Amino acid sequence: MDLFEYQGKQYFARYGIPVSPGEVAVTPDEVVAAAERLGYPVVVKAQVQVGGRGKAGGIKLAADASEARAHAEAIIGMDIKGHVVKRVWVEHASDIAREYYASFTLDRGAKAHLAMVSARGGVDIEQVAEEDPLAIARLHVDPYLGFSHEQARKLVDEAGLDAEAREGAADVLVALHRCFVEGDADLVEVNPLVLTPDGRVHALDAKVTLDDNAAFRHPEWEELAAVAEMDERERLARQMGLQYVGLDGDVGIIANGAGLAMSTCDVVNQVGGRPANFLDIGGGASAEVMANALEVITSDTNVRSIFVNIFGGITRCEEVANGIVTALGRVDIAVPMVVRLDGTNADQGRQILSTVESDELITAPSMMDAARLAVELAGRAK
Ligand code: GDP
Ligand code: MN
Repeated sequence: MDLFEYQGKQYFARYGIPVSPGEVAVTPDEVVAAAERLGYPVVVKAQVQVGGRGKAGGIKLAADASEARAHAEAIIGMDIKGHVVKRVWVEHASDIAREYYASFTLDRGAKAHLAMVSARGGVDIEQVAEEDPLAIARLHVDPYLGFSHEQARKLVDEAGLDAEAREGAADVLVALHRCFVEGDADLVEVNPLVLTPDGRVHALDAKVTLDDNAAFRHPEWEELAAVAEMDERERLARQMGLQYVGLDGDVGIIANGAGLAMSTCDVVNQVGGRPANFLDIGGGASAEVMANALEVITSDTNVRSIFVNIFGGITRCEEVANGIVTALGRVDIAVPMVVRLDGTNADQGRQILSTVESDELITAPSMMDAARLAVELAGRAK
């Protein structure tokens, strides 16, 4: 689960990471009221889960009530890279002497946590990594040994932070590491981490991704999840108990088992197509599950063909075929569908499908043939 900046800052604050006082607001009146309480100048910040809000005009400083109102009116409802701003965070503005970067994330390849610090903050870190990779100091942290203040200090020295910021930045890093580990996050990123003219170091932005697998030990996450932004189709699929991940191609994919679903995406790519999604319907493939899966997939208007790829093990293909036939009666499908059935009772399954076979429902003998056909049909539909 990705947190909004304001949620991330509230999470940071619980671990002692310094952040500016602020309030959430949804209307210009609320923004002005919050600004009056916080004291001017304030900064009005769009709360959307996408980077580069500043450049897009979603972050503005206000010196008085009329500016705060004008910025609120401009920012609330604004579209930032496809995300409509519903809420803003109003924060007492900071004076900035320098902007740095700090993060902890998982390095799966190294089987360790990775700390990154840079004196070049406030800009896109991917861009820094490309232009000037040595400007980012990195340290792998052994999850069993933890992260000491000495290591933090070494890292900020190596990153070349200004002398007066180093102690403060090391303190922030130690707290950020605790937040990362005890808070069960996959990513905590502060960009920028700022040094103020009076020598204080604090987090001006917050990007936090929590590890959903740890939700069972964080009942307090429910409150965060209530406002979390989730793709509409992913939300629908989750309600139906389906494992769905939206992608940006045009071939809708339904497979049983995560491994087969991934291979299906691979073969679609291999024959020159682009998957519209990953969808694992799991072990069962009842009419209900099939209808749900088709409903989720066809709600994506980019989908031009559907590839159903089932390997019957415990799942029997004739059951799947019956499921497909029944589902077709329930869900209106406007795009062609290619079905590949293999494994337990595949012949029986194909027999059942042959009774409803048409230009819009085609069975294919192998996974590769089915992929080619689905990709070709998707191309033709354009
Ligand atoms: P992002 O563009 O989505 O990464 O949003 P940030 O929260 O990182 O803000 C972008 C930029 O706005 C920062 O790098 C700062 O330069 C500026 N900014 C944000 N908050 C303040 C503030 O309190 N005071 C000042 N002077 N600038 C700020
Ligand atoms: Mn930022």
